Amino acid sequence: MSLHQLSIVQAHDGLLKKKFSALELAKAFLDRIKTEDKKISAFLTVTEDLALSQAKRVDDLISVGEDIPLLAGIPLAVKDNILIEGIKTTCASKILEDYIAPYDATCIEKLKKLGAVILGKTNLDEFAMGASTENSAFFPTKNPHDLNRVPGGSSGGSAAAVADDLCCYALGSDTGGSIRQPASFCGVKGLKPSYGAVSRYGLTAFASSLDQIGTITKTTEDAKIVFEAIAGKDPKDSTSVAINKKLQVTSYKLQDLKIGVPKEYFVEGIDKEVEKVIKDAIKKFENFGAKIEEISLPHTKYAVPIYYLIATSEASANLARYDGIKYGLSKNQGQNLLDVYLRSRVEGFGDEVKRRIMLGTYALSAGYYEAYYLKAQKVRTLIKEDFDRAFQKVDVIFSPTAPTPAFKIGEKIIDPLSMYLCDIFTAPVSLVGLPAVSIPVGFVGKLPVGLQIIGKPFEENKILKIGQLTE
Ligand code: GLN
Repeated sequence: MSLHQLSIVQAHDGLLKKKFSALELAKAFLDRIKTEDKKISAFLTVTEDLALSQAKRVDDLISVGEDIPLLAGIPLAVKDNILIEGIKTTCASKILEDYIAPYDATCIEKLKKLGAVILGKTNLDEFAMGASTENSAFFPTKNPHDLNRVPGGSSGGSAAAVADDLCCYALGSDTGGSIRQPASFCGVKGLKPSYGAVSRYGLTAFASSLDQIGTITKTTEDAKIVFEAIAGKDPKDSTSVAINKKLQVTSYKLQDLKIGVPKEYFVEGIDKEVEKVIKDAIKKFENFGAKIEEISLPHTKYAVPIYYLIATSEASANLARYDGIKYGLSKNQGQNLLDVYLRSRVEGFGDEVKRRIMLGTYALSAGYYEAYYLKAQKVRTLIKEDFDRAFQKVDVIFSPTAPTPAFKIGEKIIDPLSMYLCDIFTAPVSLVGLPAVSIPVGFVGKLPVGLQIIGKPFEENKILKIGQLTE
């Protein structure tokens, strides 16, 4: 196996046994990015100097016989909406094109302490709004399985980079599906942790009640390692929580496992071949001895509209800070202050971001707040109650991650509604804050298909263990 195909565990083992140095490992990835990323366009910024200096530090530790943590010397890529001090963070937006992050996100601070090697920043839909990475203001990323197709989004750069062995693992963010859906499209493992499990400090806010940082990896074991490294209470994010170790199962009996399959997730709109791949995967678990139970999540049909009301409302408030004064692009040859605001935002934001700011502003405005935003929050509670009821009967829930495999570049970009429907199986989970992982379980032609495993709050470990059975 060549160096860039190794999992975290294998690479760590290689470093310890001195089969290669951290510097050699970093260089192997940087060389591959130079040739291969011309085709895929996963990276917005490559941080070669940073990677080499971090790798060298790890080699120094190894040479004096220090014990090194699992993640030391292991190269990763970071979605470009997560701050790394001194490095550009663009959110794939013109408005932040030259913005240099003044501090590290908490997850980055933690990874740096463990000796991680950062290769660069990956492409995304502008401000993480989208499901194909075509909304990037710079260029679209391509799916390594078929260069005419999208990698999914919004963490499409991170998923494509892992799938194409341009990094050992990557960080993404997931607001309504942005880790799981690209993981499904690219055939890698994508974990969206429970809301609060990972600090959001240093993640550029899109919809704060939904945003979570998570992992994109080659194996479930790697997902567990990275998740545990970045999880935990952070005084800088009041919604973060300490992980209750008791909830983190270490083993379970498959014969005792009850898997719920929501009947509302297998209705019209889902690609027949995707449905077959998922049903076959569920059948395998049944053959292993797990009990499969049909469950009902009756408010599923409201999840996408509710998600798009809540996410756009929060986005309209969060994105008010880009005013041409405080950050990034400033069109200051205006007549007055209002002119500066308007010109900077008109030129700095792309169409999808503007669409969402308008929708969210409308939903929050006086007279409409009760009819839209408040109503949406009430339905959100009903969706949560659906899941609470289901989890009284079953341990985990299985569903497709996305209704289709990767679609063609250009296929949905002209029709925002069809793009929004990509989130049909992932948005409900985000609204409720549950952990979920997408695991590749088969193909439609040459395109990978992901199974979504949804757990109870803070049972990341359990869903990963279950996912591991497919490997
Ligand atoms: N596709 C969804 C959206 O456009 C999800 C985005 C995300 O999770 N960041 O809002």
